[in-house]
Amino acid sequence: MSIRQKKYAEYLTTWNCKRCLYSGKILAVVFPVLGVLIFFMKETETAVFWAVLIGAEVIQLASLLAISYMMKEGMRDAMSIVYKLYYALTILSLVVLSVSEHRQSGSLILLVGTMAYYVFVPALSRKEQKVSAYAIMVIAVIYCILIFDMGVRFVVDAAIVFAAAVILGSYSQDNMRYKEKLKSELKEKTISSEHDALTGLMNRWGLEKQIEYLWPYCARINSPVGIIEIDIDFFKKYNDKFGHPEGDKCLQKVANAIHDSARRSSDIAVRTGGEEFLVFVQNMTEKEIIKFALMIRDKVAELKIPHACDEISKYVTVSMGAAYTYPNEKNNFQQLYEEADRALYKAKDSGRNCVVCGDVVYGK
Ligand code: GH3
Ligand code: MG
Ligand code: MG
Repeated sequence: MSIRQKKYAEYLTTWNCKRCLYSGKILAVVFPVLGVLIFFMKETETAVFWAVLIGAEVIQLASLLAISYMMKEGMRDAMSIVYKLYYALTILSLVVLSVSEHRQSGSLILLVGTMAYYVFVPALSRKEQKVSAYAIMVIAVIYCILIFDMGVRFVVDAAIVFAAAVILGSYSQDNMRYKEKLKSELKEKTISSEHDALTGLMNRWGLEKQIEYLWPYCARINSPVGIIEIDIDFFKKYNDKFGHPEGDKCLQKVANAIHDSARRSSDIAVRTGGEEFLVFVQNMTEKEIIKFALMIRDKVAELKIPHACDEISKYVTVSMGAAYTYPNEKNNFQQLYEEADRALYKAKDSGRNCVVCGDVVYGK
């Protein structure tokens, strides 16, 4: 997958996670309110209802915590699994709540509520939503007949409500996705000037635009920032031996490794020019930045791209200069960049394939 495709998939995952957070907050309030209402109205005696209601509340709270944490830490792969699980469990608990309340007047209201949730908070792809909708319908019908021995009338009512949900849900999904597509296309056009065409990473112009507001923001919240400047070792020799097109492929692979390493949502990976890259990080200690830089170095080494010049390694390696500061009105990004640049020179002088931060060489 190219970085551009990965970014689109990440964008969709983040979009869905944000909607799960939104619905999680609402439902975390709705479920206890529902419980209190039913308790005082003495409308139910079913243990299933209470078990599912408490279970649903736990799902909401646990998902809120898990998704917020994962979004902050950039755990992309886990995020998409968790939001789908969250979505399926929520729908399932709503359905069970609806049918376990079948003898009461609130039952149909709950079903309509479930339908509304299904229509307006879909967090799956169109196909996944359809499959899950039919699965839910089948489970609900089996549940109604086998466990509660319900009348045909209720089963028919439930089936009609769910059929309406699937049709309305598909319609609203199409609508929402179409609008999102238009928005993302527009966004892509506006950001293409801020991204590098070869690697898909942000370019220097894009970084400068971000720094314009990030520097004062980090100063305000007193958050430290760091940069890691990355330069491929002996890249000229690589080009001379394998040619420019192969050199371009090598740049793409290294860019991919850097992008995959910069996992936090606040990390910014940039191709600053030629065979030089930079990662801007927030809220990390100096120790963490060095550890992070060494991890990037190892990720590049793991690519095992054969090098023309095996003075230091048989494979392509990178040298890195890291710098770290607390932004304020007196310092600026340029100074931090120059410090990282000096560190990078020292890394080259120290035999390459290493990280330098504050005059200390790491990874040798
Ligand atoms: P050092 O270890 O000191 O960094 O040596 P180096 O050869 O990597 O550094 P130098 O700055 O001498 O060479 C950088 C090379 O990167 C020169 C240029 O041919 C190559 N380069 C820059 N941009 C591109 C590009 O977009 N594609 C390809 N294939 N090569 C590029
Ligand atoms: Mg260079
Ligand atoms: Mg170089």
